[in-house]
Amino acid sequence: MRLVAFGAGYVGLVTGTGMAELGHEVLCVDIDPDKIQRLNDGVVPIYEPGLTDLIRRNERSGRLRFSIEVAPPFDEADVYFIAVGTPPTDGGGADTRAVMAAADQIARTAKRKALVAIKSTVPVGTCDAVQERVNRAKVPLEVVSNPEFLKEGAAVSDFFRPDRIVMGARTEEARQILRRLYAPLQLSGERLVITDPRSSELVKYASNTMLAMRVSFMNELSRLCHVTGADIHAVRLGVGSDSRIGNRFLYAGPGYGGSCFPKDVQALAHLGKTHGVAMRLAEATHAANEEQAAFVTQLVEEALGTVSGKTVALWGLAFKPETDDVRESPAVKLAAVLLAHGATVVGHDPEAGPNFTRALEAHQASVTVHDREYDALDGADALVLLTEWRSYRAPNFAEIKRRLRGARPLVVDARNIWAPREIEAEGLRYQGIGVPPQAASRKGD
Ligand code: NAD
Repeated sequence: MRLVAFGAGYVGLVTGTGMAELGHEVLCVDIDPDKIQRLNDGVVPIYEPGLTDLIRRNERSGRLRFSIEVAPPFDEADVYFIAVGTPPTDGGGADTRAVMAAADQIARTAKRKALVAIKSTVPVGTCDAVQERVNRAKVPLEVVSNPEFLKEGAAVSDFFRPDRIVMGARTEEARQILRRLYAPLQLSGERLVITDPRSSELVKYASNTMLAMRVSFMNELSRLCHVTGADIHAVRLGVGSDSRIGNRFLYAGPGYGGSCFPKDVQALAHLGKTHGVAMRLAEATHAANEEQAAFVTQLVEEALGTVSGKTVALWGLAFKPETDDVRESPAVKLAAVLLAHGATVVGHDPEAGPNFTRALEAHQASVTVHDREYDALDGADALVLLTEWRSYRAPNFAEIKRRLRGARPLVVDARNIWAPREIEAEGLRYQGIGVPPQAASRKGD
């Protein structure tokens, strides 16, 4: 088939490239001319494991192209994916202007009957609104909801091995096209969940909020562990071994971040408000997440006495491992507060250093990011681990002690991946998230 993906970001680039890899002819369109120029020069603007090789291979084969506009023969595409950003509005809703702009471009350029599949995360009713807009086109266009569930850091493997593919379509003809399109991803079994567009739109918000809710609940419990002396590892194992609950997404930490959970949880709460239905769990999930970020800051500040004049080293600047995305990253939030309170912040991340520096420029603050993790520790008063990249999992604590300043420097393990006793044995001061210092290790993993 001939396909167009609007938005060459995490979702559009992975979807477009994945579809090209399956044999389709794909054009990725983005309004950002720099991004398109870089892609055409062979530079992939994001870090996503496996993506660069896949893009190069499909570009070489001629199946994958990049442009700032839809040009022939893609004005005769079979399917147009809309994978543009839907950032939060001031009121917490989702800004769908980019979705509408993409829809308008499709309506202007499409020269034959086609499907418009909305991959962007959009409020219930957006597909219907887009349908009305594209009804002005000269050719029949049917709008379907096809929300994306990929995880940054594993986006390529998620594309080829999705847990489920959700599609909300009104007509059997649209469902058949989508079935054909996704058939190569279903060789080992049916993964399609077929609904109407409105339910499909809600599945996406409900899924993200459910996951965020689990994280926020564990984070609240970690704060309770902190004051009662219970151990969040033990609580997680005990709770997660109930098969009705399951053991995934039960890790306490510095609060969830990224471009999806924070905005989608708030967008669901906002959607509820718009329709007069209180989404209390979504609201509480968001509030608990904000409180967790404040809790981590408070742990660092209390342990150091005052942060003014102190240097704090951060390991892990992306919002999670295996990505360079720092949107709503706990590291950005913590750094902004520490800097405002007079601390110096240094950092390290295997991939996200440049994005972190840029994000803090927006806060009018400057930080130093080192290429080697131990170099970030020289003369610092504390190390805070914020993202559990593999390369941080078995560090040399003796080296950490040597590099940090002070008789018993502070190590905050905000991901609870290190063994407190090992850290304390090196003469460092340990602080986890709801883990007592005498606990042996993250048990049961
Ligand atoms: P992104 O910010 O990485 O990319 C969006 C791209 O769209 C940008 O490059 C931007 O320049 C481009 N764009 C904006 N307006 C455009 C237009 N009119 N025409 C063409 N391009 C345009 O965003 P993302 O992370 O890929 O997310 C896209 C959507 O998918 C969002 O709704 C998001 O909530 C959803 N989503 C994201 C993820 C994820 O992990 N990132 C996962 C599932 C769903």
